Amino acid sequence: MAKRSRKTKIVATLGPASSTPEMVKALYETGVDVFRLNFSHGNHEDHQKRISIIRDLEKECGCPIGVFADLQGPKLRLGTFENSFVDVTKGMRIRLDSDPAPGNINRVCLPHAEVMEVLVEGADILLDDGKVHLHVVKKGPDWVETEVIAGKRLSDRKGVNLPNVILKSNVITDKDRRDLEAACTMGADWIALSFVQRPEDVAEARKLVAGRAKIISKLEKPSAITHLHAIIELSDAVMVARGDLGVEIPSEKVPAVQKHIILAARKAGKPVIVATQMLESMISSPRPTRAEASDVATAIYDGTDAVMLSAETASGEYPLEAVSIMDRIATDVERDDLYRRIMDAEHPDPDKTSPDAITAAASTVAATISAAAIVNYTTSGTTALRTARERPEVPVLCLTSDLVVARRLQLSYGVYPVHTEDVDNFGDMVKKAAVLALEHKIAEKGQRLVITAGVPFGTPGSTNALRIAWVE
Ligand code: PGA
Ligand code: MN
Repeated sequence: MAKRSRKTKIVATLGPASSTPEMVKALYETGVDVFRLNFSHGNHEDHQKRISIIRDLEKECGCPIGVFADLQGPKLRLGTFENSFVDVTKGMRIRLDSDPAPGNINRVCLPHAEVMEVLVEGADILLDDGKVHLHVVKKGPDWVETEVIAGKRLSDRKGVNLPNVILKSNVITDKDRRDLEAACTMGADWIALSFVQRPEDVAEARKLVAGRAKIISKLEKPSAITHLHAIIELSDAVMVARGDLGVEIPSEKVPAVQKHIILAARKAGKPVIVATQMLESMISSPRPTRAEASDVATAIYDGTDAVMLSAETASGEYPLEAVSIMDRIATDVERDDLYRRIMDAEHPDPDKTSPDAITAAASTVAATISAAAIVNYTTSGTTALRTARERPEVPVLCLTSDLVVARRLQLSYGVYPVHTEDVDNFGDMVKKAAVLALEHKIAEKGQRLVITAGVPFGTPGSTNALRIAWVE
């Protein structure tokens, strides 16, 4: 089960529309490789139930499944209004202050003291996904006077984005700390950090996680793009979080930023996820728009590891249709010969190490002899990550005795992880590879496998051998 016709992975968010065991199973069978739990919504009990359903499904189907817990981060929100909203017009003035009393046409609460502190005259404030644009014209001790530059309506608790403002406060909020602890206890494989601003934010999260999960940095602030390489270096994976990113930087810059992030992550050999509004109209429509189909395809042509669904699967009316169309787009794009040419044109050079030399060779050999798969054995997952970095034409069957490593590798391009008992020599591994490749329908009898290993076995990072083996 879980053999896919594509190498790009699919991440789907679970929510009210998708939390029964039947639905989770249907999503998985339709193509979801990694499930996302969004800690901005729902309580710990909801998430715990979802994880239990996933782990039961994993046992039933015998394939590792990845789970990532997405922390809300310092998401800023406006206070409330006496009549739940006010209509605004260009040129109007409205004051943001720290008074929790419901707002009106003259004033409303911005309940974040740390934000008031850093807002200066001339700063831009974007609300409701950028639909309303305010400009700070005057600053007081605990208020700012703003002018409406664009927009029509402000309503209760709408999201607030402050492009180019670097908050002094911690990006890991108290809620995030509690959620992180709960997610680690529940056994999430990945923790996603929202609104990462600086490399230090990632370092701090890593201390809190203390090895219990891997870290995905969500790139959605201009300062994260400024520190892109340092953040990628400290993270285990990154997300192009286009929802907030598209508010924090001008829309026209998002496509190029997406391409640069994907390239940088590919070069570093870390998984990258493209997220948000991929099939947005499918929240209420059984078919995507042409632009959405094209957007998903673009992310795949860019060489991303994974594409993600948010509300489409969490609360939409057509979760399975959304996964299915994503699966079909990825499959089709990957079969296009232009895809291969684009992929090869941006192929990063191997590092000057034995493992990279062998991994790069394995990819070439597999393509040359039309092998069914590349096989490697990994304890930490590193070999599989380096192999995925090659974006090989064939799947990567990755054997590991560590179930947690197998789950995490579900996020990586082309990697088909199999949890199996330890192997202690190359000969054993070759035999096992052939048996498992057959069993998992990765290869048929008479096909060849390209196997890499570190000999003698058991020294991490020692990949130094390549062998071609027949499946009998
Ligand atoms: P969010 O993150 O959905 O948690 O805000 C993704 C994004 O901003 O694109
Ligand atoms: Mn976001």
